[in-house]
Amino acid sequence: MDNLRLWHKFLETIKPSIGPANFKTFFSKTLLKSINEDKIIISTPHAFAKETLNQKHLPLIEQTFANLLGRDIQVEFVVKEMEIQPENEEEEFFQPIQTTTAVINPKYTLENFVVGPSNNVAFAAAQAVVQNPGTSYNPLFLYGGTGVGKTHLMLGIGNALLVKKPHLKIIYCSSEKFMNDYVTAIQEHKMGDLRRRYRSCDILLIDDIQFFSGREGTQEEFFHTFNELQTKSSQMILTSDRPPQEIAKLEDRLKSRFAGGLMIDIQPPDFDTRVAILRAKCIEQGSMLPEDSLKLIASSLDSNIRELEGKLIQILQALKAQGLSADPGNVGRFLGQSFRKPVITDSKQVLSTVCSFFNIALKDLTGPRRQKELVLPRHIAMYILSEELKLTVEKIGQALGGRDHTTVMHGRDKMKKLITTDREVQRILIEVKQKLIS
Ligand code: ADP
Ligand code: MG
Repeated sequence: MDNLRLWHKFLETIKPSIGPANFKTFFSKTLLKSINEDKIIISTPHAFAKETLNQKHLPLIEQTFANLLGRDIQVEFVVKEMEIQPENEEEEFFQPIQTTTAVINPKYTLENFVVGPSNNVAFAAAQAVVQNPGTSYNPLFLYGGTGVGKTHLMLGIGNALLVKKPHLKIIYCSSEKFMNDYVTAIQEHKMGDLRRRYRSCDILLIDDIQFFSGREGTQEEFFHTFNELQTKSSQMILTSDRPPQEIAKLEDRLKSRFAGGLMIDIQPPDFDTRVAILRAKCIEQGSMLPEDSLKLIASSLDSNIRELEGKLIQILQALKAQGLSADPGNVGRFLGQSFRKPVITDSKQVLSTVCSFFNIALKDLTGPRRQKELVLPRHIAMYILSEELKLTVEKIGQALGGRDHTTVMHGRDKMKKLITTDREVQRILIEVKQKLIS
């Protein structure tokens, strides 16, 4: 268990025994500072908290840690003010004390976020935001498909800031929560409260903002919240399943605000990253699978990490329940029906799938005409035949009605470039491939 997780676990455990009011007073700005074999140091916001915790709650605190760690441990308190660097003192003094630990799931950290080519830019941006919240990348707008790690990364930033700058007031909510809060505030005539709440935070994290689509009142309210937070350099991090321009029924002024910060997409992870993620999840689960078994699972699912993780956990449980070893043979059995390693072997099938996807005739795809709408389908076909079927450029040329191999090379290379830059092309390719293997 890392420090952050230990601390969250501790807060969770001790909260019921301490009572909500005391909890808020004494733990809201309190943090686990360090831990070694036999001593934990906890930093407290002021001498009053230190004294009270020491006098009233020390045995309970020590006992709680002992239970969590499975060993006796001594707890000592220090007052936080003494460690603050001078330039922060003023800022620290005026910040509201706020506990946010309850809302941010400590499970998602930057430390346990596996970095690969599909998400390294987003990860670097996340680190930059943690270093200097509110300054350079505001808002940070993370977008990408389902289960690629948007929420994980956003909460990773939140958790890192909780540790690094515990005095900051962080709000994390789903876009639905924001919408509901807005509707309730109107019904109960409490707009003032809503505004005070959202506009006073230092860090605002809103998940799945695409759901603001069509909600005019919410958008209006959020627009003003956004402006105010930006003016006072409060960091905003937003996630969405698509870039702002593609969110239907979203006001233009919001689109341009969102695009005015740092927009980064997270791609589905490649094979190696999937293997690395599975390895990390195994370690978290406290059980290890052989490399070949990890690879087998990683090759069975190719975009959604949530599903990948779900599958892994199912398999680990099934292996354990039946007392089986985790070799690829057994793992393969449990991958079962959903084991759909893409095995595309038939070039005719590729061509007909591409044709039906683009709604064009095979004779046009393979024919001599050079119409614009035939170019992308041909390039997609060339790419799949080359990358998935590993056909030679000569063979691909033949399959496409006797085209020259240099034409094929050109088309394939063009696609290789496009799929790294053009989201629309990426999506088409994924959809065509999915059709091919289903
Ligand atoms: P999204 O919000 O994009 O739909 P999530 O952030 O909820 O996806 O991620 C889905 C699951 O996959 C979570 O359990 C998350 O921890 C895991 N996950 C996603 N990306 C990574 C990564 N790079 N490293 C480790 N786990 C990841
Ligand atoms: Mg999410």
